[in-house]
Formats: sequence, structure tokens, C-alpha cells
Amino acid sequence: MARLTVDLEAPNGVKYTQPTGLFIGNDFVESKSGKTLTTIDPALDKIEEVIATVQAADADDVEQAVKVARAAFKDPSWKQLSASDRGRLMSRFADLIEEKRELFATIDAWDNGKTYQEALENDLVEAVCVIRYYSGWADKTFDQTISTTPKKFAYTLRQPIGVVAQIIPWNYPLAMATWKLGPALACGNTVIIKAAEQTPLSILVLGQLIKEAGVPSGVINILNGPGKETGVALVQHRFVDKIAFTGSAATATSIMSIVSKTLKNITLENGGKSPLLVFADADLDEAVKWSHLEIMSNQGQICTATSRIMIQDCIYDEFLRRFRDTIKTVSCVGKQWDKESYQGPQVYKVQFDRVLEYIEIGKEEGAVLLAGGHPVTVGDRGKGFFVAPTIFTDVTPSMRIWREEIFGPVVAICRFSTEKEALELANHTTYGLGAAVFTKDLERAHRIAVEIEAGMVWVNSSQDCDPRILFGGVKQSGIGRELGEAGLEAYSQIKAVHVNMGNRL
Ligand code: ADP
Repeated sequence: MARLTVDLEAPNGVKYTQPTGLFIGNDFVESKSGKTLTTIDPALDKIEEVIATVQAADADDVEQAVKVARAAFKDPSWKQLSASDRGRLMSRFADLIEEKRELFATIDAWDNGKTYQEALENDLVEAVCVIRYYSGWADKTFDQTISTTPKKFAYTLRQPIGVVAQIIPWNYPLAMATWKLGPALACGNTVIIKAAEQTPLSILVLGQLIKEAGVPSGVINILNGPGKETGVALVQHRFVDKIAFTGSAATATSIMSIVSKTLKNITLENGGKSPLLVFADADLDEAVKWSHLEIMSNQGQICTATSRIMIQDCIYDEFLRRFRDTIKTVSCVGKQWDKESYQGPQVYKVQFDRVLEYIEIGKEEGAVLLAGGHPVTVGDRGKGFFVAPTIFTDVTPSMRIWREEIFGPVVAICRFSTEKEALELANHTTYGLGAAVFTKDLERAHRIAVEIEAGMVWVNSSQDCDPRILFGGVKQSGIGRELGEAGLEAYSQIKAVHVNMGNRL
């Protein structure tokens, strides 16, 4: 049997033992086929910079994980666990993640390329918060009694859905796992979670903590593997009751078409092309600060990134001047470990090439390149997938850089003159995840919040994300909601019970 751990030392000096197996039934196991996948450091690229090789699941492993998750769903150790004990167990799980936050931040920075500081101060805080928040919900979901006639007593039962397959992306590896695990566990489901093939590592360390927290065997199973194999096998499986997916719209389309054959319950979060509107009466410094933060942080690899900025024409030139200055002073591109780095490398070569390709498309389409527009060499070896923060101005709605999600540090800016025009531009997209508006006019802010086609609106800020507040999109940005109380809807179903109270003839 292969050794299912590897001893690693990250570039920041953190040493640890990385599990490399599939996590099924609270044990790390080999894949039946012997398939593996390899993950690299995107700051160093190239084959010799492999961080680790982990087991990859094929259809047989998926079969095994589903069998184990199904058995766990019916097992008294989970099914009969009181809601309060389930909450306590989750709270212990959150504490264990928090204890290891430096390790998790190290792994995600190494595997994904995000800065260590961002991983530690953003991703890990959120990951712990989400599990803790949902641990509180475990025993606070209430059913209803419904008044009908004196001869009937009617009530509802909120019950778990069953075996849930969760397919997550690479941009926030650990945080995305917790967004999905938190509500699923609070509602009493069992789970098979699949990480993205680019970032398989942190979720396996999470597997160790699942066991340590005392989660019964088979309640959470972790599979790595390629989307087209492991992901598809999960989506197709007839005994998987629900698919919860976060990733690209193209993959969501393919998942939805497969799911239509078994009519599974589904939630999708598919990214966006979120608008940010700046009106002439806005606090310009604030608008520039947020505009920069919410397209350039995390290397622009954020589904809610405000990647289309619309500026009222009388402040257009001034906004651009300040925005370009902010890029120059704040957006330092460098390795994920350097304290000065604001922006690390893109996650892998495909994404790096894709961002550069979109930059070429923008130039060919006639947008004006105000800043960036090229790869960046970091260090003396000149490796890694670094891209300069890039601003295109005078972008029009027919351009692909306006319509398509780039998922990189590239922003498309245009001008508007009236509120009506701003709204038309903002809504001119197939997506509808977030939208930001900067104005001091409260009435206008509320008007726009109503009219804009988005699942979330930020007034005088951008991309606020809080475990207590629902998250999700409209149009092609998704189906269903995560986080907050609304997140529980995705992982539970309501049953109606009619009790005859005496209408015998
Ligand atoms: P991106 O294009 O940003 O890499 P994807 O949508 O391809 O995003 O990936 C998000 C997640 O979906 C990953 O875990 C990936 O392995 C998985 N995935 C990719 N293709 C499929 C598919 N056809 N069916 C199921 N899951 C998939």
C-alpha cells in the first residue's frame, strides 16, 4: 500500500505532514485505480515545482464514497444525534480549524498563489466564522403549525436532503469548503465534497480535523480528482440526492444537463461580471479604494469581483487618474509570501494564459489600455504566473471584455451620463451576482438597489461578504442561495403533515 502522507516544508518555513489519500469513512485511502493528481506552486510553475501528488477518485471511488455516505445518513450515530450535539460537534470543528489557521493559510497560499496575509486575515477568518455560525443554527431551525379547521392539525417537518455532493472551486479552497459544509451539516445531511484539481491540499488536512472533532464516520467524505471524471461521476450518481456547485457557468450548464436526467436537487453559484457605479456626488476616494480592492484582490479571481466600472462623465477623468495612481502605489505584484505583495500569481497556467488572451482581445476590440496589459517577471528566475493589474477604459457593451468573466486582475471601465443609462449599462449582462453603487444620495441608492439585476447590492462599498447574510446570484450567476438563514434552505426540505383531529362520519 502506498504511503498516504508526505512531509512538506512550505517556502515560509512551515513544516507539516500532508495527507494525500481520499478521505472516505473517516480514513485516508488509496484510489482503487491508482490514479493521482499533482499540484504545483503557481509562483514557481513548471513540473519540477510540484508541491505534492494526491490520490484522484474515479467512478469506483465515487461509488464507494456514496455507499459510505448513504450508510452514515441512516446510521444512528448521525441520524439520532440531537440537534444541539450536532451543533456542539460543529463548534469543536470550528475551534480545530482556528487552531490550525496558520497552517491552512500556508497551504492555500502555496497551492493557490494567494498572498499568505490574505489567506490568514480573510479566508481563515471566514472559514472559522462560517462553521461557527452554522453550528448555532443546528438547534435553531423551527417548524410550523398551520391553522386550517378545528378538525385538522397540520404541521411541517424540516428534514435533511440526504447525500449531498459538493463541488468547489480553487479561488478560496478552504473557505469554499466551509461555506458548503456548514449548512449541510447543520441540517443533518451527509456529504461528499470534491476540491478543485488545482488546489487539493487544504481540504485533506480538514479531513484530519473532521475525525478529531468526532464527526461520525462517513458523514463527510473528501474526494480529489478531475472535474470531468470525479465531478461527473458524482453528478451522475443516482444515489446522490443533491449537487451544490460553485465554479464557471460553462461547467454549471453541463452539470444541469446531467442532473436533468435524475432530477436532483441543485444549487449553483456560477460567477459574474458585477458592475460598480460611481455617481458624481460620491466620495471619490472611497469609490476609488473599493473599486481597486474588489477587482485586484485575490488576483481578480473572485466570482463577485466588480469587473465592470461605470463612472458618471463629469468625474470620469479624475476617477481614472486616481484609480491608476492607486494601482501604482498599492498593487505590488510579488510572491505570495512577501509582506509587500498585494497580488500573487494566477492559480495555474490555463488561467494565466486565459487572462493574457483576454487582454489581447481587449486591445483588438479597441478598448484603451490605461495600465498593465502584460505578464510580470518576479524574482531572478522569471517563473510563475504573474499578470500586471490591467485597466481598460472606453469599453463598450459589445466588447467581450465587458461581457465575459475573465477571472483575473483586469477591469473594464466606461462612462455614463444619467442614472437611467447607468442602470442600462449595469444590467447589460447575462450575469447577476453582485452590484456596487457609490453615491451620497440615499434615495438614488435605494432606487438602484431595487432596479439592478443582481443577487447582492453594496451601497458605498463592494463585495461585502458575511456568513450571516445570504449570498447568491440571479440570471446566469446561479440558482439558490448560500450563507445566512437562506443557506439552510439549500440543504433541507419541508414535509407537510396533516393530522385528522376528528372528522370521522
Ligand atoms: P474553472 O473554469 O474556474 O476552473 P470549473 O467550473 O471548471 O471552474 O471548476 C469548478 C469545480 O468544478 C472544480 O472542482 C472542477 O473539478 C469541477 N468540474 C469541472 N468540470 C466539471 C464537470 N463537467 N462536472 C462536474 N464538476 C466539474
